[in-house]
Amino acid sequence: MTSAAATIDPATGRCLPAPSDTQKPSLIGMTRAELGEALAEVGVPNRQIGMRAGQLWHWVYVRGASDFDQMSNVSKDLRQSLGERYSLAAPQVVSEQVSADGTRKWLLRFPARGAGRPVEIETVYIPEAGRGTLCVSSQVGCTLTCSFCHTGTQMLVRNLTAAELVGQILLARQRLGDFPDADTPAGAIVPGTGRLVSNVVMMGMGEPLFNFDNVKQALLIASDGEGLSLSKRRITLSTSGVVPMIARTGAEIGCMLAISLHAVRDELRDELVPINKKWPLAELLAACRTYPGLSNAKRITFEYVMLKGVNDSLAEAKELVRLLKGIPAKINLIPFNPWPGSPHECSDWQTIERFADVVNRAGYASPIRTPRGRDIFAACGQLKSTSERLRKTQRMQGQAAQAATTGPV
Ligand code: SAH
Ligand code: SF4
Repeated sequence: MTSAAATIDPATGRCLPAPSDTQKPSLIGMTRAELGEALAEVGVPNRQIGMRAGQLWHWVYVRGASDFDQMSNVSKDLRQSLGERYSLAAPQVVSEQVSADGTRKWLLRFPARGAGRPVEIETVYIPEAGRGTLCVSSQVGCTLTCSFCHTGTQMLVRNLTAAELVGQILLARQRLGDFPDADTPAGAIVPGTGRLVSNVVMMGMGEPLFNFDNVKQALLIASDGEGLSLSKRRITLSTSGVVPMIARTGAEIGCMLAISLHAVRDELRDELVPINKKWPLAELLAACRTYPGLSNAKRITFEYVMLKGVNDSLAEAKELVRLLKGIPAKINLIPFNPWPGSPHECSDWQTIERFADVVNRAGYASPIRTPRGRDIFAACGQLKSTSERLRKTQRMQGQAAQAATTGPV
């Protein structure tokens, strides 16, 4: 594992974040209409607003501009008045870690809102052959308490805003050098296939469907054809099963859907994914069957975490196949990623393969998800509190290093 591109403060073990303007509202994450209002506020005449909003959109989402001064076709006066009132600042990077397998995890800090405190969340980048997936967080913590998920041990602090959601994508692309056209005179939309961040999954911290409005706004910006231009087929939203919001996800966002299923009986799912008590399997699967846009070319992914002796029997594999009958689906088997104090163990590899065989033979693609970034606690379900643990370790290392250099001679 290599760690942190930025300078580390030895006293705290934290990266020293690049200064950013946290007081001004950000233009990132605004809809075009909101951007128009912001332009009107700085005195742009009505007839110019559409054109100016288009210019800003292009600079931010196609070129990756993070400073008004980069906007060479915008007048100096307008750049100045925008800069006085608004910000384009990317989220502050508290730490950046790179796993031995190339997975990257950023701990990001967002300013306080209202009477709250500044908050921190994690965003993970997973490079694979031919594609790169960004795992975006939707909330700070989670209200739900799935027994196998580390994030579930964190209380919900707050929802992330659309600016903070889109900011995770922009930050990742900026850090990875994924705005290759930024400096060419025209700047062009990079096709999805040629990018480092080619896919986005809402599978980080939090339940995205409990933050629907902001997630919707952010994903519509991410898929806007004149901006970030990610195909909706390359955006997947994962939910633990917030049934009333599933149809709206398909109709209003139109992205791919993933369901954290993890059990095939209500009794067990009530325990593993407690939201099941409110919306049990029958209701969840009924919502899946009618997901807008569902077809063989646009299948739902069912995530199934493999927990030793809990949900990994062959009888359960057969029941899974029976339950999903008629739903265009793929089944993603996720080896359980352990975290300190977790009450579960990962199923044996052989058990996972046998389970996968049953599902495969029934005609479903059932890839076993290779755990990525476990060494930096970036794998599914390991996010957030492990950062605190790592920071504590770093702090101790920092203190030890300081003692070594300032200790008695
Ligand atoms: N809250 C949403 C999205 C975030 S979780 C949801 O639950 O779907 C992303 C995925 O990681 C979910 O399928 C979740 O069940 C899974 N996951 C959580 N903890 C895990 C762990 N310790 N090991 C493996 N997968 C885990
Ligand atoms: Fe929340 Fe998803 Fe973790 Fe459950 S699995 S606690 S819904 S983040």
